[in-house]
Amino acid sequence: MSRVAYVNGRYVPHGKACVHIEDRGYQFADGVYEVVALVNGRMVDEGPHLDRLERSLRELHIAMPMSRAALQLVLRETARRNRIRSGLLYMQVTRGVARRDHPFPKTATPSIVVTARRLQPPSAAAVDAGVRVITIPDIRWERCDIKSVGLLPNVLGKQRAREAGAYEAWQVDREGAVTEGTSTNAWIVTKEGELVTRPVSNAILNGITRLTILKLAREQGLAFRERAFSVAEAKTAREAFISSATSFVLPVTQIDESVIGNGRAGSLSLRLRHAYDEHAAGSPVTA
Ligand code: PLP
Repeated sequence: MSRVAYVNGRYVPHGKACVHIEDRGYQFADGVYEVVALVNGRMVDEGPHLDRLERSLRELHIAMPMSRAALQLVLRETARRNRIRSGLLYMQVTRGVARRDHPFPKTATPSIVVTARRLQPPSAAAVDAGVRVITIPDIRWERCDIKSVGLLPNVLGKQRAREAGAYEAWQVDREGAVTEGTSTNAWIVTKEGELVTRPVSNAILNGITRLTILKLAREQGLAFRERAFSVAEAKTAREAFISSATSFVLPVTQIDESVIGNGRAGSLSLRLRHAYDEHAAGSPVTA
């Protein structure tokens, strides 16, 4: 079946979907995006993702291209036209088309694109084996809290990971603390069994999956703390994992050359993955 994209008010064949060469997203990365998982025809954490989209746009003084209710209809219609019940929805809003000049244009209308894609979840064996991450210096700007389409450091980092045979790269700040992955948040479980992830600041994207995991941890009475952790601490942690709208909770079993725990997915990571899966599927966790 051929794919369909939504572009500025029209549903068009994916292969023919295009924006103008002077779109500021193309020329300046002057725009933001969101990725929402679809599970059994339902958007996971739709409200929080749209809240974050609105926040990112506000921070950049870009107007919402349509009302939230209209966008919700477009998201559903894009999923429907692509016949996707499980996968992801991608939406991107830029400041719009204008003659190339750095200051905000006076009259540009924001551009919006929505696409949908199928996604295969990893097998239970792959989850149990976990993934390897490498560590790299964080070379990004000071507003990583904005989900900007300006992702060049993230692209370079992910490519370094791939070339090293790893799944993800954990970015490390000047103090030696892990900020986050290139498209995921970073977590460890300490030797004492405490779940740890970096607190929210301009240094990381406040992942919606991250927020849901914290909520699930709270509901399940798990010990957790939002604090920075060093690469050295991560390498000797009992467990580690990454989170994102498309990875859910994905165990990490190797950081650089250090094997984490016994080299298999940790029990708390698997428990949280299960809880998150249930949350994504829309049913309550019975723990
Ligand atoms: N950190 C970065 C840099 C990301 O790009 C992403 C997702 O794309 C995340 C964290 C995870 O965010 P979420 O859980 O909202 O997908």
